[in-house]
Amino acid sequence: MNSEKITTDPGQAARIVRQQLESLRSAGLQVLPKPTNTHTFDFEGIEAAVEPAVQTPASAEPAQKPSPTSSADPAVTLAAAKSISPVQPQAQPAPRVDGDKYESDPIPAAERASQLTIIQNEVAACEACPELVANRSQTVFGVGNSSPRLCFLGEGPGADEDRMGEPFVGAAGQLLNKILGACKMKREDVYILNTVKCRPPGNRNPNEQELCNCWGFAQRQLEVLQPEFICCLGSVAARTLLQTKMSVGKMRGQFFSYRGSRVVVTYHPAYLLRNPDAKRKVWDDMKMLLKEMGIQL
Ligand code: URA
Repeated sequence: MNSEKITTDPGQAARIVRQQLESLRSAGLQVLPKPTNTHTFDFEGIEAAVEPAVQTPASAEPAQKPSPTSSADPAVTLAAAKSISPVQPQAQPAPRVDGDKYESDPIPAAERASQLTIIQNEVAACEACPELVANRSQTVFGVGNSSPRLCFLGEGPGADEDRMGEPFVGAAGQLLNKILGACKMKREDVYILNTVKCRPPGNRNPNEQELCNCWGFAQRQLEVLQPEFICCLGSVAARTLLQTKMSVGKMRGQFFSYRGSRVVVTYHPAYLLRNPDAKRKVWDDMKMLLKEMGIQL
């Protein structure tokens, strides 16, 4: 426990705790997830065990990654939280249903790779976020089919992605590969990109400024790709793309629209590593998506 956090002033303690809870809540955390190191992933097993879809209560909606605040000392946060009034849930604006279309006509398939390379070079030269620039090994642009029907939008690179320069190559990426495999797809069939292109240190969530600085790159990638479908992995991707603060649990199970792409929202694979029970819900989401895509398993 960090002794600097201990104070005998109840007013100050309440303020610190309130700030921590605010920060957790704005990161989407409603309950502190119990960490687990073990997981198995077997979509066929899940398929066999599928039950009628159950609406996820908002209170069960976790953040996809614990924020540094929560992992720093959850005991302090939780213990002190008992002494202050709980954070009241607020009405959340509905996700934007964007009636706009992509600005340009679709770019011919043969020209897309070179258009993406132009953006990729700009990303590599970007120095908008000093903390991320100081800590990155390299930027992580995106990978896959430049004429995809389906794009997966993640949050931001982790340590493995920072080292390899490719999104979703670590543990969460292995799980994404399994999800794709269960959908009879390969990484090469889809395009995978992140909301931010540099690794936030310590695997914290990207902050508002970083999202603001970087999101234009993903928008331009999507403008080139113009996918029929986008699957948002986790709350950061969904909230940024759809301009909402709603939880993943509330957004699942329906289609949204982003400039003519049909958008589904599901849990982030990193969250599934910590909460294997949610795999069943992700599988339900993928089946909904595949059905809409006209793909039969
Ligand atoms: N998590 C993400 O959101 N993106 C990655 O590329 C890897 C992990």
